Amino acid sequence: MADWDRKRSRLADRLRKRVSDEAVLAAIASVPRHRFVPDDKRHDAYADRPLPIGSGQTISAPHMVAIMAELLDLSPGDRVLEVGTGCGYHAAVTAELVGPENVYSVEYHATLAKEARETLEATGYGEVSVRAGDGKQGWPGHAPYDRTYLTCAAPELPASLVEQTRDGGVLLAPVGDGQQRLVRAAKRADGTLDRTDHGGVRFVPLQ
Ligand code: SAH
Repeated sequence: MADWDRKRSRLADRLRKRVSDEAVLAAIASVPRHRFVPDDKRHDAYADRPLPIGSGQTISAPHMVAIMAELLDLSPGDRVLEVGTGCGYHAAVTAELVGPENVYSVEYHATLAKEARETLEATGYGEVSVRAGDGKQGWPGHAPYDRTYLTCAAPELPASLVEQTRDGGVLLAPVGDGQQRLVRAAKRADGTLDRTDHGGVRFVPLQ
């Protein structure tokens, strides 16, 4: 157990090269990534790389989760919508930053949604809300969100997600069909988007 803790804090230290937000690094140092990955991948849980999680999907590398959390500029109490729960790891990192009761996550594959819910419960993040369904439609019942992010690549920012994010809020997503760019879009008071590009990325496509 202590061994996992040591590996995890070393990972957070290594990420300091790319991420300066101490709250984000503390979140990475807190969430037990080895409990979110399949048993036979546990030994690799604190290497900074993506890992397969079943249903043909992958958990993002820790540096990508950290970079996204930093770009989202999350504060305690922010209400957050995640599209693409996967194994639930990224949602748990977000929960560390905003509070688990403020995280709403939609996953396309029902099996992954169920497993993520169980893992989140077992690791102390049971208040995160997970729903199986098509994330392109968002989760209107809990809108508006202060922050919305996708962990799968969309050809364009889905209109219903833009709509469900409050004015003054922020969206973050890998955008593109083949080549993908990480796009941050701050929603202005008049509802238009102020977009910034954060480089090339590789995510699984939105279904
Ligand atoms: N954040 C995840 C990474 C998951 S990979 C983690 O920490 O593990 C991207 C996920 O997006 C996959 O699980 C995939 O099934 C999901 N996905 C793809 N298209 C989707 C859609 N339309 N709605 C919701 N989830 C979707």
